[in-house]
This record gives sequence, C-alpha cells and structure tokens, in this order.
Amino acid sequence: MNIPFVDLQAMHAPLHDEMMTAIEEVVSKGNFVLGHQARAFEEDFAAYSETAFAVGVDSGLSALKLALLAYDIGEGDEVILPANTFIASAAAVTFTGATPVLVDPEPDTYNIDPQKIEAAITKQTKAIMVVHLYGIPAKMDEIMAIAEEHNLIVVEDASHAHGARYNGQRIGSLGHIAGFSLYPAKNLGAFGDGGIITTADESVIEKLTAMRNCGQIGKYNHVHQPYNHRLDTIHAAILQIKLRVLDEWNEKRRQAAQWYSAALADTSVITPIVPDDTESVWHLYVIRTAQRDALSEFLKDRGIATGIHYPVPIHKTPFYQSANLVTNNLPISEAQAGQILSLPMFPGISKEQVQYVADSVREFEANYVTVRL
Ligand SMILES: *Cc1c(COP(=O)(O)O)cnc(C)c1O
Repeated sequence: MNIPFVDLQAMHAPLHDEMMTAIEEVVSKGNFVLGHQARAFEEDFAAYSETAFAVGVDSGLSALKLALLAYDIGEGDEVILPANTFIASAAAVTFTGATPVLVDPEPDTYNIDPQKIEAAITKQTKAIMVVHLYGIPAKMDEIMAIAEEHNLIVVEDASHAHGARYNGQRIGSLGHIAGFSLYPAKNLGAFGDGGIITTADESVIEKLTAMRNCGQIGKYNHVHQPYNHRLDTIHAAILQIKLRVLDEWNEKRRQAAQWYSAALADTSVITPIVPDDTESVWHLYVIRTAQRDALSEFLKDRGIATGIHYPVPIHKTPFYQSANLVTNNLPISEAQAGQILSLPMFPGISKEQVQYVADSVREFEANYVTVRL
C-alpha cells in the first residue's frame, strides 16, 4: 500500500467542476488581483472565524508581518514566541526589526508554555506570538490574562488551525489579531501561495489594507509604508469554494485522528493529547518516539510518507545563528525535534490506511529493540 502524506488530488476531485468554472470567470473578467471574489472571500472567512474583519494577503508570512506592523511593532521591541515552530513565525518578527524571544513548549501539548512566557517578559516586550501547533489550540485564557497584565499584543499564528476551537470560540477570534497561511497543504489552501489576517480591531483595518496594497488609501494616495502583499483573485475564488467544505474536511481529520490514537494505543509511541476545552483540526498527527529516524525509514520502505514538523528549532537554524535573537534555556524544543514524526493526515484518509500505518509501527517495534521515551 502507498500512502501519501497529503492527497490534494483526492480532496479536490469532487470540487473540480465548480473550481474550474470559478477560474474561467476570473479569466473572462480579467480581474486577477484583489477582484470582487477576494472581498467576498474575506467576508466569508471573517464570518467563518467568528470575528469582524479579514484581510486577504499573498502568504502566511506576509499575514504575520503585516499583523505585527499594524501594531507598530519594530526595532527595540521584543516578541515572545515558541522555539518549535515554522521559520515564518520568527521571520515575521525579524522582518519588522523586532527581536524574537524564544521559549519552550509544554512537553505534552507542544504548544507555548504560559509560565515560560511570563518568565521571558522584559520592559521591551511588546507582543506574544502564539502558534496553535499541529491544529491544537494553545492555552489562550492564560495567555490573554498575561497579555492584559503586561499590556501586550497577542498575535495568533493560526496557520495550522483554520476552524479549530478553544472554549467553543474559533481560532483567529481570540487574540488581538491572527495570521493564517493559505498555502496549498494547509487545512484551507489556495492554488498557490496565499494568506489572511483576522481581527476584531477596526482601528488597524485601514493600515492593514493600505500596507498590503502599496500603502494606498484610494488610488495613488500612498499614506502608509508601501508593500505588495495582495491576494490574487483566482486563489480567492478557489478558497471561497473550499471554505464551504472546510468543516466537513476537519471532521474527517478528527475521525482519522481517533482511528490513529486507538490503533496506536498498544504501541510505545506517544500519541497527541488534546486538552478538554479545545477542538483540534488535526493539521498534523504528530507522534513521538526515541527511534524517530529508524521508524520513518521503516515506514518509507512500507510505502508510507511521513514528515517532521519541525526538524530544527528556530535558534538552531543557520540563519538565526547570526540573526538577532533571544534564546533562553530550550531543552524541550531541542529534545523533541529529534523525536517527533508526522504521520499521513488528510481528509479522506481511510480507516484501512490508518490501520496499515499503525500495523507498520507495530511491525517495526516487533523487529527492533523498542526504546521507550
Ligand atoms: C505555513 C506556516 C506559516 C507561513 O505560511 P506561508 O504561507 O508559507 O508563508 C507560518 N507559520 C506556520 C506555523 C506555518 O505552518
């Protein structure tokens, strides 16, 4: 059996005709950049995220950059974020001129540890960037309380968590502002690069919409720092269609996660923990094992594709060896980077496929000396 890591073709097949019609409409109208479909998608996404505003942009990294810039975060400021995230989270901070301050995650949920945030706050701290890693919401009540006490902005990096809920509320509606990636492999993905910002804060909307489009408020009236981070209409038209099935897709991911956790229960690998008050959207199903590299090789030989999210903590990347960065003691990020393994996860993965992955893990354990974490 061959099991891909994600199967976009299978996901897109039932939507094929509708998506082609939408693309033809853009081609025939010629409104390729920020067309009316972009505005419509922003409205749909704001409603979906149960918040007031959404601003479409050209990538997740751009969404996070503009979110920070909207709150005037820049040189001399510090932004606290987890060390175990994708490079884009830290890169957005670095782009603004602010200093990323890395902290360790909680060992069981992989999400940023509120106590470590508190310990990292200095006079320079301006913001906390929360990453809802793997689709599991971070402890937002505690984080918002810390932010309020210290007068900090909370930016959600929601790139793994389109549609997830914390205490019943959608991710993207909990912090001051959120940035989502709409990269093809995310839970909601365009036909290329894309991103979107959500916020309930009307005071930053004019600046955000201006910054993404050459700093303009009205044509050729360049008021804010001019960037080009516009959303293409073809992506918006596709995203509108895919947003309508996102809840259904996320439900299928939840089903697959249940199958995995049940099927792996009698193995030595550590399966994900989802706190009671949260609803994960399972962007990734990540296990942990002391024999990560041997297991991933074994699964590959069985036709099973896996991934590592992420193999190198931010502070160990070559770029951040020399870039401005504050690192405290980060033993959890460093240890877990060598233990985590992402198993195939996509809407429509079958129970048989999940069972085959779990059986292969068991086969591995029967053939190798198992080292428990
Ligand atoms: C994908 C991703 C991003 C960046 O998104 P791009 O659209 O690739 O710029 C940011 N943060 C996390 C956690 C991501 O997974």
